[in-house]
Amino acid sequence: MYWELSLETMERRELERHQLRLANASLARARRSPHYGQALARLPETGLASLRALEELPFTGKSELRAGFPYGFLAVDPEEVVRLHSSSGTTGNPTVVYHTRGDIADWENLIARCMYSTGVRKKDVFQNMMGYGLFTGGIGFHYGAERLGVMTIPIGPGNSKRQIWFLQHLGTTVIHILPSYALHLAGYFPELGIDPRRDLKLRIAFIGAEPHSEAIRRKIEEIYGLKAYNSYGLSEMCGPGVAFECLLQNGLHLWEDHFYPEIIDPLSGRLLPEGEEGELVLTTLKREAMPLIRYRTGDLTRILPGPCPCGRTHRRIERIKGRSDDMLIINGVNLFPIQIEKTLMAIPAVGRNYLIEVRKVDHMDRLEVKVELNEDVFRGTLAELEKLQARVVAELRAELGVSPVVKLVEPSSLPVSEGKARRVYDLRGGLG
Ligand code: ADP
Ligand code: ZN
Repeated sequence: MYWELSLETMERRELERHQLRLANASLARARRSPHYGQALARLPETGLASLRALEELPFTGKSELRAGFPYGFLAVDPEEVVRLHSSSGTTGNPTVVYHTRGDIADWENLIARCMYSTGVRKKDVFQNMMGYGLFTGGIGFHYGAERLGVMTIPIGPGNSKRQIWFLQHLGTTVIHILPSYALHLAGYFPELGIDPRRDLKLRIAFIGAEPHSEAIRRKIEEIYGLKAYNSYGLSEMCGPGVAFECLLQNGLHLWEDHFYPEIIDPLSGRLLPEGEEGELVLTTLKREAMPLIRYRTGDLTRILPGPCPCGRTHRRIERIKGRSDDMLIINGVNLFPIQIEKTLMAIPAVGRNYLIEVRKVDHMDRLEVKVELNEDVFRGTLAELEKLQARVVAELRAELGVSPVVKLVEPSSLPVSEGKARRVYDLRGGLG
């Protein structure tokens, strides 16, 4: 069940010594780039004496990456670069990330490690429904799956009826899919007369690239009759393959032989004690073309305590709660969109999609939540719908401490995109 037994189960103290050696080598490589040549000028030639000493080094953020565009972070001769990827720009202008042949080989290997750990084997059929191109989700998994030796169908996202045709006629067993798209795709089964649990051979899904709640995971598992594993990554580190759930589905192992994690207070930048929730900061340990030191991911999570019964010693992070810049402040109350999702999905009458809008009404913030109903409920009586609406309002109020306006809408009526879902529209303008 291990792709690389000795690395995945390395004893903690040995793993930390290994990380320190890698971190110092990574710092030395980073200093060859214009940015870190300056930013790390005062670092002694001997490097760091302990991992903890990383804390003394400056952070790297998206704004530095943008300022360093195009080559400020390149740490190798341009001839060594074989590929470029770019983040989709969920927040602001895109940034670019370069890869050497070695970086690509490491990335493929990490994806193969992730897939193997959940039981994917050569005999599987893998349908990759993530976007190909600059986005790392598609190509990253593609080469990782080929490295593992699985037949890979590079179908990309969208074209739902064709997706289902492939699922059915090729006997696909493993999919990689955005959680929002997995729910959207499910809306096509009734009209095609297909019961995914009975008519398809699916057994594993990899879902990631966007925040999603445990309830959404369970919903996807239930609809398709498979196990869905959470996959986390970001283009700046490589793409997917940074942290991944094992068979136990209890937190995501962050591959510590490639990335060194810290959790900080997003406001003060102070390192938080292990176990506390804050912003994930990552240092690359092996990347050649573009090493990143103390990169602020913007993602909120915490490090889970204790070892995982699967035997892997790499620490686990909790499912991502959102980005620090996702937080909504509604009339002074702080909340995260994922809290709304979690609450909605626990109500059985709620369907597969929802949308959040915030606007100013008479100088006050108004939180409006549009909620798709499931097919059966939608045909219910007016009194039933009114009762349900009151329940949704009450449960959201209890979770958020804010009273929302709730609108119940038809199944499959809210917009979906081919890329990452956009479900929050802050229409307040200026400083929310
Ligand atoms: P962009 O910044 O344009 O979205 P990326 O494709 O690099 O570009 O996206 C990485 C980001 O996607 C992460 O920083 C995180 O916010 C989000 N993300 C990736 N995987 C997950 C996941 N499993 N759960 C929650 N969020 C995720
Ligand atoms: Zn585990």
